[in-house]
Parts: sequence; structure tokens; C-alpha cells
Amino acid sequence: MIKKLAVIGVGLIGGSLALALKKSAAVELVSGYSRNEATRQEAKALGIIDIAADTIQQAVSDADMIFVAVPMGAMQAVLTEIAEYAPSTAIITDGGSAKMEVVKAAEQGLGNTINRFVAGHPIAGTERSGPSAAFAELYQDHRVVLTPTEKTDATALEMVRQMWLKTGAEVFDMDVEHHDTVLAATSHIPHVLAFNLVGMLSERDDCDDVLRYAAGGFRDFSRIASSDPVMWRDICLTNKHAVLNLLKQYQNDLAKIESAIEDQDGDYLIDVFSRAKQARDTRFNDPTLIDNSEV
Ligand code: NAP
Repeated sequence: MIKKLAVIGVGLIGGSLALALKKSAAVELVSGYSRNEATRQEAKALGIIDIAADTIQQAVSDADMIFVAVPMGAMQAVLTEIAEYAPSTAIITDGGSAKMEVVKAAEQGLGNTINRFVAGHPIAGTERSGPSAAFAELYQDHRVVLTPTEKTDATALEMVRQMWLKTGAEVFDMDVEHHDTVLAATSHIPHVLAFNLVGMLSERDDCDDVLRYAAGGFRDFSRIASSDPVMWRDICLTNKHAVLNLLKQYQNDLAKIESAIEDQDGDYLIDVFSRAKQARDTRFNDPTLIDNSEV
């Protein structure tokens, strides 16, 4: 049982953790801090947090668990402030989408507290943001990845694992770099493609016709372009290397498709499309492998 959970960033991810732990009676008290007073008050009114703290210092006071769920670009500053005020026994963890930069930020910001920091990433989400988007079931039957380093204290890792298990999630450990490569492929690149395609189409003169005759597939694919631009800017910039590597590979493959169309090379297209269909119908559709939950 967590006696006092401090949530820094009471939006979709932080708010949903607080609600899930409250629902499973795994926490006694939740204090929360967000940059804007209105966000803090909204989170309190929605029953996500019990105490709307005016400062990080106030939020983390007496906390035994601190969960950081701010946009990636704010992690470093927030972790540095937490290090100054967190009780010496508190465990600090986060839900940021790219782990290498968070681990670096934690190493710089947290100083001696680094062994009590456990980097994590719930593979669950929606395209909505803020306290009103939070719900207790967000993590139910979804995966949470923890990326401990050799500095991570084993007890802290276990406490964070137990916390996530209480939300109904499955918890896995992964190497930091591997996490960032895997998530670039399955989440970050699809977002870049969706933002780009929707942006490109929206600027066409015939955009209304494009939308009028769009089929369900386009609606499915374009949904993620409704995600928070600030959050996704931060994810791209903080997972820069993995995102750029995959984008280059994607562009190379796309150029080959472009040439095949130019050259009327139907065999090439059949080969690429058939291999993709085969993969989508088998491995990419296997519920024991793929978790389709994250936007
Ligand atoms: P969100 O709904 O926008 O919540 C973020 C919260 O952080 C907001 O309540 C915002 O409050 C607060 N905030 C922003 N800057 C802050 C600062 N400098 N200090 C304190 N609070 C600050 O975003 P989210 O979807 O929960 O994402 C949070 C983190 O989870 C991100 O790092 C993201 O990469 C990660 N994540 C997201 C998803 C997803 O699908 N959305 C999935 C997995 C992980 P104000 O209104 O006061 O600014």
C-alpha cells in the first residue's frame, strides 16, 4: 500500500494512474501538481487527487512514491526540482514515452537519489489529454515497460512493479535503448506519418472532397493525428536517433515503391504488399504479441 502518492503532471497518464490505484485501494492519499492552477483544481474536482499542491515541494512532501507524467521536454527541470525536495526514502518513477533522455535527465537532475529512480513507460493512451481524459481502466490488460539501469535499486524496482500490477497492467523490464528503438517503430513513426499525411491533405484545395470520400481506413489511420502536438514534438526530439534511423529506412523503402510505380513494376508492388499483408494477418494480429492500445 502506498501511503502518499505524488503525481507531477495530472493529465491523462498521471491522472489515470492515480484513479487506478484509488480504485484498487492501493493508495491512501494522492497529492498532485501541474503547472496551471486550473489543471490542479480540475484534477481535484474530478477526484483524481486529494490535495492540489501549489508547488512541487508541497506535492512531494511526505510522499513515498512520486510519479512524474509531464511532457518529455519538462522532465529535466521537474526531476531536478523533485531531487531538492523529495523525502530521502521516496521512490521516483515516470511515464515518459522515450527512456534514454529521461534516464539522462534523471542522472543529471536527481544526483544521489538516482538509485531510487525507476524509469517506466505505460504502453497505453488515447489521443486526448488533461485531467478530464484520465480514467481508472486505462492500464487494465495493457503493458508497462520498466527500464532499470545498473544503478536502479532492486527494492525500488519491485515497488514500482507492484504499483503497476495494481492497475491491472502487465509489467516487463527492458533495456533503455531497446525500448526507444521498439517504441519509435510502433508508436513514434506512425504518429509522424499520420501528422504529416493529415497536414498535407488538409492544405489541398480539394481537401473537402478528400474527407467526403474517405473510407474507414483513413479515419482509423488519421485518428492519431489528433494527439497533442507538444507531446509529440517532445517525443520526436527526445527519441531523435531511433526516430531518424527508422524514418531513413522508411524513406528508402518508399523511394523503391515510387520507382516501381514509375516503372510499372507490378511484381515489386505485389511482393511488398503481399509480405506486408502476410505479416499483418499473422504476427501483427497476434494478441499475445501486439498491444494495439497506445495511440
Ligand atoms: P497530458 O494529458 O497533457 O498531461 C501532462 C500534464 O503535465 C498536464 O496536466 C500539464 O498540466 C502538466 N505539465 C506540463 N508541463 C508541466 C511542468 N513543467 N510542470 C508540471 N506539470 C506540467 O499528457 P499525457 O498524455 O498524460 O503525457 C504525460 C507523459 O506521459 C508524457 O511524457 C508522455 O510522453 C507520456 N505518455 C503519454 C502517452 C499518451 O498516449 N498520451 C502514453 C504513454 C506515455 P498543465 O495544464 O498545468 O500544463
